[in-house]
Amino acid sequence: MATTKTRKTSLVSPRTESIVREALEAAGCRSTAQRAAVYGYLEKVESHPTAEEVYRAVRREMPRISLATVYKALEALVESRLATKLTNGDGAARYDCRGEDHYHLRDVATGEIRDLGVEFDPNLLAKIDPALVDKLAGSGFQVTGYRLEVLGRFER
Ligand SMILES: [Zn+2]
Repeated sequence: MATTKTRKTSLVSPRTESIVREALEAAGCRSTAQRAAVYGYLEKVESHPTAEEVYRAVRREMPRISLATVYKALEALVESRLATKLTNGDGAARYDCRGEDHYHLRDVATGEIRDLGVEFDPNLLAKIDPALVDKLAGSGFQVTGYRLEVLGRFER
């Protein structure tokens, strides 16, 4: 009978681990168990956590991980396009590992972000102004996409 290796973390499935390893290596980043664990956590939660929140959660599984390691892991995940960094002025950046285009709700008081459960409309800019993309191209700005955040307050 084959012996199974003890997993270092319960945060990550073998499938997730190989997705993360391949993407990190393709981007020239080092693939580590910590980076896989950080991705595993991002994938599991809907809350678009800050680096501090990721750190507090992953530390439960990997008590020796440092906040600096979590920051570096998040940077590597962004660099390898496994995650997106959502910045907001001087508030803490939040991280999202959902790859496809989607909209967000943002709590203006806490900075908390959740996904808005409606389908992404690739033609929304044309609905605002059918000539907008061409006008911008004419003025030297090539549109590559757009983001939409609905602002408000989550009720506690
Ligand atoms: Zn999102």
